[in-house]
Amino acid sequence: MFDTLSDRLTSVLQNLRGKGKLSDADIDSTAREIRIALLEADVALPVVRAFIAKVKERAKGAEVSEALNPAQQVIKIVNEELVAILGGETRRLNLAKNPPTVLMLAGLQGAGKTTLAGKLALWLKKQGHAPMLVACDLQRPNAVTQLQVVGERAGVQTFAPEPGNGVGDPVDVARRGIAEAKHSQHDIVIVDTAGRLGVDEELMRQAADIRDAVQPDETLFVVDAMIGQDAVTTAEAFRDGVGFTGVVLTKLDGDARGGAALSVREVTGQPILFASNGEKLEDFDLFHPDRMASRILG
Ligand code: GDP
Repeated sequence: MFDTLSDRLTSVLQNLRGKGKLSDADIDSTAREIRIALLEADVALPVVRAFIAKVKERAKGAEVSEALNPAQQVIKIVNEELVAILGGETRRLNLAKNPPTVLMLAGLQGAGKTTLAGKLALWLKKQGHAPMLVACDLQRPNAVTQLQVVGERAGVQTFAPEPGNGVGDPVDVARRGIAEAKHSQHDIVIVDTAGRLGVDEELMRQAADIRDAVQPDETLFVVDAMIGQDAVTTAEAFRDGVGFTGVVLTKLDGDARGGAALSVREVTGQPILFASNGEKLEDFDLFHPDRMASRILG
């Protein structure tokens, strides 16, 4: 996903190599090149501005280091600032003191929520948890069946409304799902919710109603990293309409420009918890800002 950005940054920073001392003009022109590379990668403008200002300020004030030459110092600063915009430390899931922990998934249709429910369940199972899925996407035909299928693949139970009762009330299903999880000793409940093709008020209200009913320990906003700048507007809409405590980036294996991944933490103020990078249930892990920054810097 970051191939182009990575190539650009590598070549910009390469130009600094061999310079004994960097003038302010060197730093300014490097910063300008980095700015263009980030904008072309679809990183949101305010994020780019803040990033460049920080890199410039630090590079110009950089202490003379015995261990690093000027080019290496700029690379170190760029790397550290990339890690910072990606969230700094790896943030782990908040687990409830009194199980079950409730994780609610929200996001647009096609973002990868259902797949994520299976991935997360499998990942949690491997860590010794006993997760259960709850199917609250009652809008899209087949969504319930699709969740049951990923649940089976992950080897976990899925709570779903009984068929034949009309569309059903997702809030009621969510409540009953949590009660069932308590009853059957599951320590983590993953609540899948409906996504629409675009942000709409009814979707937000429904997700907010489910949130109020289940009081999640984490609400995870699931976003397709391939949708570019739209990821930021969608994230803002979900932040304001439902609120979330963490972000999951999906489709990081795609060949889009990757700016969404670099913007969403800064723009929403919420950390990226997980990265999803393929269609298989195993293509999933905690999000590590430092590893992502290294991948981008090549
Ligand atoms: P939902 O509508 O949000 O529940 O989205 P789905 O889970 O149904 O995913 C939509 C499509 O994206 C499906 O074809 C998934 O196989 C695919 N998908 C989900 N996550 C990933 C990922 O990380 N990488 C790739 N390449 N495809 C994914």
